[in-house]
Amino acid sequence: MKRFSSLTTFFHSIRFRLVLWFTVILALVLIVFSAFIYYSQARDIRGDAMYRLESKLEAVEATLLGSRNNPVHLQESDVLVLLGADGDVLASQGISSQQEVQVLVKDAQAAQQQNAGEHTGTTITWIANWEGVSGHYIFIVKPISLGGMNGFAILGSPFDPYDLNNRLFFTLLLGSFLTLAIALGGGLWLADRAMRPVHTITQAARTISETDLNRRLNMKSKDELGELANTFDAMLARLQAAFERQRQFVADASHELRTPLTIVNLESSRALASKRSPEEYQRALGVIRSENEFMSHLVSDLLTLARMDAGQMAMEKTPLDLSDLALEAVERLIPLAERKNVRLETGALPEVNILGDRRYLLQMLSNLVENGIKYTGGAEKRVHVETGMDGDSAWVRVCDTGEGIPPEHLPHLFDRFYRVDKVRSRGEDETQGGNGLGLSIVNWIVQAHGGEVRVESAPGAGTTFEVRFKAK
Ligand code: ADP
Repeated sequence: MKRFSSLTTFFHSIRFRLVLWFTVILALVLIVFSAFIYYSQARDIRGDAMYRLESKLEAVEATLLGSRNNPVHLQESDVLVLLGADGDVLASQGISSQQEVQVLVKDAQAAQQQNAGEHTGTTITWIANWEGVSGHYIFIVKPISLGGMNGFAILGSPFDPYDLNNRLFFTLLLGSFLTLAIALGGGLWLADRAMRPVHTITQAARTISETDLNRRLNMKSKDELGELANTFDAMLARLQAAFERQRQFVADASHELRTPLTIVNLESSRALASKRSPEEYQRALGVIRSENEFMSHLVSDLLTLARMDAGQMAMEKTPLDLSDLALEAVERLIPLAERKNVRLETGALPEVNILGDRRYLLQMLSNLVENGIKYTGGAEKRVHVETGMDGDSAWVRVCDTGEGIPPEHLPHLFDRFYRVDKVRSRGEDETQGGNGLGLSIVNWIVQAHGGEVRVESAPGAGTTFEVRFKAK
């Protein structure tokens, strides 16, 4: 059963089909080539035999007329019949029985009649597998004059005395079979060698599992299969990176959830441990609510990012004014700014038309303005929002007077869960709590709109986020 299935696999394999096709094509080429060679040789042999026969008959005629000094000697295998004008057999040589002579005469007459239209009186040849002698014979019948009276001479000799045609036929047949056998064997060997790397790739792919993604094929060859292996390795590297990101994401998310859950657990256990005053219960509930809000925010952001990763965020892009959106985001966040004593102001907000999804762009702007409010500082806490156009690009800037971000943090700012100062951004009131996901959501939304986000910040001099889109 196993042997049967391995045979089926072999017959379905590319190497077998490749070799089969190659052999079939080679066989066709050999057939055409051999047929051509065989046909040309047969034609040459026939031409040669006709020429020999004609010259021999001329010599016979000359001998009969006496115009030849040394009489021609026919070979043993030659057949000669002389006929009078009325078809009487005058003489014959090389044929033993009269009956066979008659058969030959009939054949000659038939050949003459067949060619009567065009060749009356001329030499006519035909080839026959004549019974009187063995093998193929070529005959010629020609009108001759026999000492004053006209008649016919029929002369025949073996068509292919050395059996060249048959020998060539068998040589070609044997040669073709040998060539095909060598091509089949060599082809299978070559195809097997060529396909070996595919086998290696298959084996390697089989052994690679989710936990073993750091395996690589590392094939050095520069051919097509080497290219395939390299592409496969590159794909593995991407998969590994994606898995690693996913793993990190899950680990970070669990870690982020652990702290508020622990706080809620501790607070509620403490409150329930013994009888407390109403103020103490109120404080404990306040902490629980704050942690709960933090977790709701985190879970909602995680859900957003998970949907973004899965490509499930449907964008409905419509023409809209970026300044309108900036104003809306500012208005939404005025209460928060007031609570934190931050002056939230707008600069120039000219009409700036872009194509985008209103809901996502509003979320993006709100995140930036909220960050400004959360992280602004200095003597006069201020967040400034303005929009404008540069050529065909529309921009929105959110500047704050905070203490700024040290340069070494700037490249990581848009990474998930990245926070410059973990203590500062996880403050005691719920508006201060940051989960480090806001800017990665901002970055995703901007990129989904074909735009780019830049940050400029210097310690002590505040931070500016600038987002640019293609204007419509
Ligand atoms: P978070 O929820 O912590 O605010 P973000 O992804 O929005 O997460 O921001 C990542 C980090 O970048 C923040 O924790 C903060 O340290 C820093 N950051 C963001 N915006 C500002 C800003 N306007 N000024 C200073 N630091 C900022």
